[in-house]
Amino acid sequence: MSTTYAYAATDASAPLVPFDLERRAPRAHDVQMDVLFCGVCHSDLHQARNEWKNTIYPLVPGHEIVGRVSAVGPNVTKHKVGDLVAVGCMVDSCRTCANCAEGLEQYCESGFVGTYNAMDRVDGRVTYGGYSTQLVVDEAFTLHVPASLDPAGVAPLLCAGITTYSPLRTWGAGPGKKVGIVGLGGLGHMGVKLAHAMGAHVVLFTTSPSKIEDAKRLGADEVVILKNPEEMEAHANSFDLFINTVAAQHDLNPFLSLLKRDGTLTLVGVPEHDHPSPQVFNLILKRRRLAGSLIGGVAETQEMLDFCGRYGITSDIEVIPMQKINEAYERMLKSDVKYRFVVDMDSLRK
Ligand code: NAP
Ligand code: ZN
Ligand code: ZN
Repeated sequence: MSTTYAYAATDASAPLVPFDLERRAPRAHDVQMDVLFCGVCHSDLHQARNEWKNTIYPLVPGHEIVGRVSAVGPNVTKHKVGDLVAVGCMVDSCRTCANCAEGLEQYCESGFVGTYNAMDRVDGRVTYGGYSTQLVVDEAFTLHVPASLDPAGVAPLLCAGITTYSPLRTWGAGPGKKVGIVGLGGLGHMGVKLAHAMGAHVVLFTTSPSKIEDAKRLGADEVVILKNPEEMEAHANSFDLFINTVAAQHDLNPFLSLLKRDGTLTLVGVPEHDHPSPQVFNLILKRRRLAGSLIGGVAETQEMLDFCGRYGITSDIEVIPMQKINEAYERMLKSDVKYRFVVDMDSLRK
């Protein structure tokens, strides 16, 4: 196979730099693709800077991938050369444990194999993600892309989309339910669009007054500036569900207080430092639940893509060349993204 051009982090404090690598030749069930677009997730930044203390350098991030199939192994049945194909946060799992058997590969008892910063189960090599011109992935972890959707806008669905879709489905977002989305970034803006399409009453909680109009355009019925206590209190005891996407440590009590009896606050944001434990009475007195949720399984990811195809949902994106990735990371830290950066991988082929 020809050389794959990529961008990599080489240590926690250095900017990402060009990096060449060799992908494996396709195995029997492998799909080889030219990467067309790759979304920029806040997890990429956490990992590049070793904020979760498990980064293997060099790290090639990227797990919101849309590509075009360039070769297939002899046993592949799901795709053919020329097909548009997508890959998310996982490229393998044990496939036999109870969670894998249920289609919940993200909770694999042996740990799923991440698209980057993980170890391939067959050859033991470190996995490199989608900030690269080519990718080779077992067909079991590839997805079909709805033909009606813009491929660049689809890329962020593979993480930001499924990470919000899955808890919205798990906790029953739909007509008659009041759903709060905290943070209007990559995940949050998908949460607003998806919860709105599911028919819920959607309230967006933001630190950024400049995002109010956008939030309404994206599908929020109401917007709350979360630093304003009166605005918060007006919603006391009224929510069925929160999806909290904030990527920084903060107090969870103000959100718990807004849940009704049996309401659920689901954390999906993974800050470098844990949130302080919330007040116990805030949970006990209304049988409220504090929960977490991790991406979604392969089948649910396909379900989410098909849902987006039906409703015409894609991510609001700013397309950048790979060479601008370090600038994009700095802007993401300032919440200055509308609402997902997507790398046009042709910028690495030139
Ligand atoms: P993002 O685009 O940077 O959005 C995060 C949003 O949080 C910001 O836009 C901002 O929205 C809000 N925010 C408020 N205070 C903040 C602060 N001090 N620092 C940073 N953000 C702040 O990030 P993302 O890609 O959506 O990812 C969000 C988090 O989810 C990250 O921690 C990521 O690692 C995690 N994640 C988890 C999963 C999972 O499976 N659980 C999957 C993917 C990502 P406002 O301006 O509206 O306040
Ligand atoms: Zn992600
Ligand atoms: Zn498993």
